[in-house]
Amino acid sequence: MEINKTEQLYEGKAKKVYATTDPNLVIVSYKDDATAFNGLKKGTITGKGVVNNKMSNYLMSLLEKEGVPTHFVEELSDRETLVRRVEIVKLEVIIRNVSAGSFAKRFGVEEGIVFAEPTIEFSYKNDDLHDPLMNAYHAIALGVATREEIEQIKSMAFKVNEVLKAYFLGIGVRLVDFKLEFGRTPDGRIVLADEISPDTCRFWDAETGEKLDKDRFRRDLGNVEGAYAEMMKRVFG
Ligand code: UDP
Repeated sequence: MEINKTEQLYEGKAKKVYATTDPNLVIVSYKDDATAFNGLKKGTITGKGVVNNKMSNYLMSLLEKEGVPTHFVEELSDRETLVRRVEIVKLEVIIRNVSAGSFAKRFGVEEGIVFAEPTIEFSYKNDDLHDPLMNAYHAIALGVATREEIEQIKSMAFKVNEVLKAYFLGIGVRLVDFKLEFGRTPDGRIVLADEISPDTCRFWDAETGEKLDKDRFRRDLGNVEGAYAEMMKRVFG
């Protein structure tokens, strides 16, 4: 059956989501728009949508092969992908292998400390509240997720980290930290959703430490497009 785009359901900071003629599937369309600091900083990163779409699809497929269920169905074009329709769990799940960003700031440490074990933290996905830190008890108390869902999300997130850490090291990239989002399928299963891209991960060149991710935009480091293009080249050759 041919699947066609129908009405736009949602427009976020970096993506649009469209309904399709199949009620269980939606189309995600990646934009070049970039925001940081909860929308305070706005800009465009030319070609970003293509990089994020293709890289995210590649990584989701890799994760599927390694036994992690995801929303990914089929890449439709450079910027558009068919995904399973899910209800997003209102948590941003952050895994860290190396200190950076808000972690370094919160605890008053430098960036670049290599952790003996990865860390996990949750933020409540709520733009009005600026995504406040939330622990598992808070999430359960507020009905954001059940205890079982939290346990599943934790073990899936650590599994994603193991797969991606090894994969990126193989292409000369250190996976410093990243953010994941999960969704509930209509039958109540948890799957990996959203995207995995230079917008949502910190990538440092394994040799030089050069930043190859959205921090170049956030921190005005220059050569933002170049960093996205370099990551594209590392992944696809
Ligand atoms: N991150 C994200 N979306 C957010 C916040 C963080 O994708 O709304 C990613 C970010 O790219 C980094 C990781 O999560 O790879 C950890 O981010 P951190 O908490 O250090 O926050 P930041 O310094 O980016 O504000």
